[in-house]
Amino acid sequence: MSRRLEGKTAFITAAGQGIGRATALSFSREGAKVWATDINEAALESLRAADPLIQTRLLDVRDSKAIEEIAVKTGPMDVLFNCVGYVHQGSILDCTEDNWNFSFDLNVTSMYRTCRSYLPGMLANGRGSIINMSSIVSSLKGAPSRFAYASTKAAVIGLTKAIAADFVTKGIRCNAICPGTVETPSLGDRMASTGNAETARANFIARQPMGRLGTPEEIASAALYLASDESNFTTGQAFIVDGGWSI
Ligand code: NAD
Repeated sequence: MSRRLEGKTAFITAAGQGIGRATALSFSREGAKVWATDINEAALESLRAADPLIQTRLLDVRDSKAIEEIAVKTGPMDVLFNCVGYVHQGSILDCTEDNWNFSFDLNVTSMYRTCRSYLPGMLANGRGSIINMSSIVSSLKGAPSRFAYASTKAAVIGLTKAIAADFVTKGIRCNAICPGTVETPSLGDRMASTGNAETARANFIARQPMGRLGTPEEIASAALYLASDESNFTTGQAFIVDGGWSI
């Protein structure tokens, strides 16, 4: 059986760890030529060690010029996976304007930058799949202490639908993935930051009706589907993979 991304090129942000890393490995296994980017060089080195076929590059998604330059260097992509995202913890009363602006810059404006840089090449080729990382905590569901985060992830869904609508006749698809709680390094940090990681873990698990956290590989499977031609009739969707949290 042929591999599901044979002959395709894919560009991924925040590929150093967690869902981005699992997706880079999965895309490469399925035959894509993968460009994996992150700001963490050690994490990229570990990814290269796991799969030497993956091209890794340091890239800060807050740097517009660096994104424009890397898009020229890589050339057109078939798949753009905007995985980067950061969780600001707290309510509106804990969120300064700087916190708000930082969250939007990292979680939303970064996607504006990469889409602006990679869309022209996709349009020239008449094909492309853009996948944006949102969350079930967005316009789909509220959760305590996720004010800035939910606001940005709702914006990601809006950005996704807008791009999908504008380029639906041009061979471009644009979808968002909305995970529930997934076992990744930054989730571990969030648990540890509460001062009682065990209780925090139990609380995160308690909100997942399946009684467990998701794995990065389970979210990578959704990204693989949206990247592949199997999803050619799917665009503008917020694809929920949340272990039943939103039932
Ligand atoms: P993570 O948070 O553990 O890792 C994030 C990666 O982003 C790190 O490798 C980090 O170096 C990189 N990064 C941070 N700032 C960057 C920048 N300025 N430029 C480039 N890279 C940068 O990964 P994760 O938990 O798998 O989260 C990935 C995405 O999935 C995020 O958008 C997150 O909001 C979303 N998500 C995660 C969960 C979860 O429970 N883990 C749930 C829903 C959505």
